Amino acid sequence: MIHPNVNNALQRTAYLFSVLLVLFGSLVSTTIFADTNPQQDTSQCTYITTSAITSSTPPQTQPKPALKYSITKNFSGGAFSSCTWHDANHLVVYVMPEDPKINPSPWYAFDITPLDITADNNIPLTITLDYSDFKHRYAPKQFNQQGWQHVTVPNDEQQLRANEQDNTSYTFDVTVTSPKVRIAAQPIIDIKGYQRWTTLLKKQLPSLQVATIGLTVEKRDISMLSHISDPSKPFIILIGRQHPPELTGAMAMLSFVPELLADTDLAKTFRKQFNVLIFPLVNPDGVHHGYWRHNMQATDLNRDWGPFTQFETSAVIAQINALTAQSEVWTMLDFHSTNRDILYTHSDNASQILPTLAKDWLAKINADGPIIFQRKSSHNPKLATTKTYFYERYNSPAITYELNDTSSPQDIALSSSRSAQHFMQLLLDYQTRTYQQQGTE
Ligand SMILES: [Zn+2]
Repeated sequence: MIHPNVNNALQRTAYLFSVLLVLFGSLVSTTIFADTNPQQDTSQCTYITTSAITSSTPPQTQPKPALKYSITKNFSGGAFSSCTWHDANHLVVYVMPEDPKINPSPWYAFDITPLDITADNNIPLTITLDYSDFKHRYAPKQFNQQGWQHVTVPNDEQQLRANEQDNTSYTFDVTVTSPKVRIAAQPIIDIKGYQRWTTLLKKQLPSLQVATIGLTVEKRDISMLSHISDPSKPFIILIGRQHPPELTGAMAMLSFVPELLADTDLAKTFRKQFNVLIFPLVNPDGVHHGYWRHNMQATDLNRDWGPFTQFETSAVIAQINALTAQSEVWTMLDFHSTNRDILYTHSDNASQILPTLAKDWLAKINADGPIIFQRKSSHNPKLATTKTYFYERYNSPAITYELNDTSSPQDIALSSSRSAQHFMQLLLDYQTRTYQQQGTE
């Protein structure tokens, strides 16, 4: 079988980093702050001083302190509900979900701009993220000249204690430098990021087809990338970003896909034997608005596989129905994030097609690292997830590929690239064995 040589490996690594550069490099360019589809801006945060609350003097008679910063979310992915100044250097940002009953994934993203650039802004600003009754999920990151970085873990004992005791808020300090600092739950990969990534892939592989397959409630494109060499050959389906804040899963997919489309012997052989349908951004409205989980119609898209009541899931399944009519779907991978690196699969030998793929693949992924995945095998017919739907319909592996919220972008890129190579090799091996068996029977 084909073993990629060192040069190919180097080329692939270079390509991989070029992909990462497009995604995260966009963040080091000035364009990050110049979105074409800005969200509605918010009004300035209200100023509530301690004295205004406790004093008997009516608040309006007190001199209003000059605001030192403006807090905005007028960019794609920007999100918070409201904000107040506790004092001149302590900002409270309230973070609420799009719909009341939702899993706790508080997403926030906002810019802090110093209003007086002549002032000395090197005094740290204290920020409290207040999630009401919801639990903290994402450690805050800030965007600066070095790209996205974790904000410094609080060294103030009071802050530390507050964060540990009360998991429904998170307090930290940040130094705001000119022109502005962006704070977010995770590095932002917005619709434009996907467009840049798609352009790069198309340049790498001109035979890749890129199509708009439908529109969301807010008329955003639902996109499909496809590579069909022979419609009678088996199909592989890749699904991404059903849940907007799950960025580590998105990063995994954005590094996995380029391997399948690469100019390597392995990928070229794979593409001759298998067709690939890729739906990288199934919930663009949710991503744009910085939603925690749903689309514009208060629906978790990963609970709509079967009912197909939503524009997004309907558009995707219509394409799958039309394009795979003469063939089979051999594997579906759905990329997500959670509190660990884990593959949700079915049991070994549960599916007729590729009955031990999950086991064989996991062994290879974990032997290589740098990310070690756990595995959970189960089948829940009552849950209308992508995983349940594809398994029941095609009797082939349907795997939810979940990255830990805290896995680093570098580890994810390397792990996903290797994982894609093993995936292709296993499928080719399996196909060769199947045809050999058919030939001798
Ligand atoms: Zn998810």
